[in-house]
Amino acid sequence: MRLNLLTQILAAFVIAVIAGVVFGPAIEAVKPLGDLFLRLIKFIIVPLVLASLVVGVVGTGDLSKLGRIGGKTIVYYLFTTAVAVTMGLIAGNLFAPGVGVNLPAVNADGEPSAEAGGLIETLLAVVPTNPFAALVEGNMLQLIFFAIFLGLGITLVGQKAVPLRRVFDGLAEVMYKLTGIVMRFAPVGVFGLVAPTVGTHGASILLPLAKVIVAVGVGCLLHALLTYSLSVKLFAGMKPSTFFKGIAPASLVAFSTCSSSGTLPITIRNTEENLGVSQRTASFVLPLGATINMDGTALYQGVCVLFVAQFFGYDLSLAEQITVILTATLASIGTAGVPGAGLLMLTMVLSSVNLPLEGIALIAGIDRILDMFRTAVNVTGDASAAVVVAATEGELRQ
Ligand code: ASP
Repeated sequence: MRLNLLTQILAAFVIAVIAGVVFGPAIEAVKPLGDLFLRLIKFIIVPLVLASLVVGVVGTGDLSKLGRIGGKTIVYYLFTTAVAVTMGLIAGNLFAPGVGVNLPAVNADGEPSAEAGGLIETLLAVVPTNPFAALVEGNMLQLIFFAIFLGLGITLVGQKAVPLRRVFDGLAEVMYKLTGIVMRFAPVGVFGLVAPTVGTHGASILLPLAKVIVAVGVGCLLHALLTYSLSVKLFAGMKPSTFFKGIAPASLVAFSTCSSSGTLPITIRNTEENLGVSQRTASFVLPLGATINMDGTALYQGVCVLFVAQFFGYDLSLAEQITVILTATLASIGTAGVPGAGLLMLTMVLSSVNLPLEGIALIAGIDRILDMFRTAVNVTGDASAAVVVAATEGELRQ
């Protein structure tokens, strides 16, 4: 059944690409199917994250263990993200995608609308002044903060809070069940998302920037194959093939939806069922990862910075490339797990080394394609963290 669903999703994917090529923009007609799937998975997120994170914190039972898991998770996330940007810079230097490109005039409809805020404000904003507003708006970091605090409170209160704990337990189970039901619709949803993308982004728009796509694609593939294979093998003794096969449905859904937040219910399900990560580890590590851990986005920013530099004839020194590693790591943390967010955050990275922001407009046309690769890596990276943290905590069933 499991393999069957994966095969179905893969088949839907291939058929969607063919249909996109054959029918061109007319295939837009199937887009509502994709939108329906997106809405179905999105509506699960807020209750699922709230309930499963509360249950996860309460289940950990002991605050020092929680602190240890949190520490490991953050260190793993930061390290793999920095490796990813470096990989992006290597790919950007090797493929030199911006050298000799002759682009038709691009209009600046990719102009960034959001400026990256300062560090202090960003940190302060994690604390919701109204937790229910955070729920309603689906603000993930605030939601995580609220859920962790609620879990701590339930642990500290003990006996009197048992009914509340049961409510969250029940809610988590129900949302988990609903994810399973929605997943049966995944092949149709993937078709509805991928075919219109291929149909509207025909070869003509892809060609001038083909090298950027190749650099991001190859960089993402190498990062996944090298970094994640190594870490699951070394820290968890898991065969890389088992890891990639287990997480494949979530990676494919991420590839099709371009949203790691949207994919979260499926990431949680795959990580627990196929990779054997305990529920409490998965429900802590993965929502956090879907919000702050974006290896694919960091890698993409590395490639894009070099592309823009090469395009406008700037030479980035080694020191500047190191600045890029730092800012891209931070920018990727601030990137929301929704389609296109990484493009906005690229402004922060470009300005850190004084590159012209018009570069954003060059990338905008192909960003959807790049988003697919980077989001798949973002999600796969989160799952690798869950496997590694679970293994080091003795919470991995193999
Ligand atoms: N779409 C990406 C994600 O959801 C974020 C980005 O645009 O880089 O993971």
